[in-house]
Amino acid sequence: MNRKARRAVKQGKLKKINEAAMQVENAIASMPKKCSKCDKGVKMKEDAKIDDWHIEIYLDGTVKLSCPNCSNNSKSDETK
Ligand SMILES: [Zn+2]
Repeated sequence: MNRKARRAVKQGKLKKINEAAMQVENAIASMPKKCSKCDKGVKMKEDAKIDDWHIEIYLDGTVKLSCPNCSNNSKSDETK
């Protein structure tokens, strides 16, 4: 740890950054393995279209996962 980083820790700046990073890590670790809307399971290794899944991470640590179908549906719902 260099002097600048140590000072940042002392000032509590780095601590906040670490806490935020840890929250994201926890959120990803506790990420649901299925769609929160239709219960369609995620096959992380097989599903090449995982990029199409919609992941929402809330400040309270709630993680919601929507399969491509449901994220498309909610998009069209919004335009109604
Ligand atoms: Zn779904």
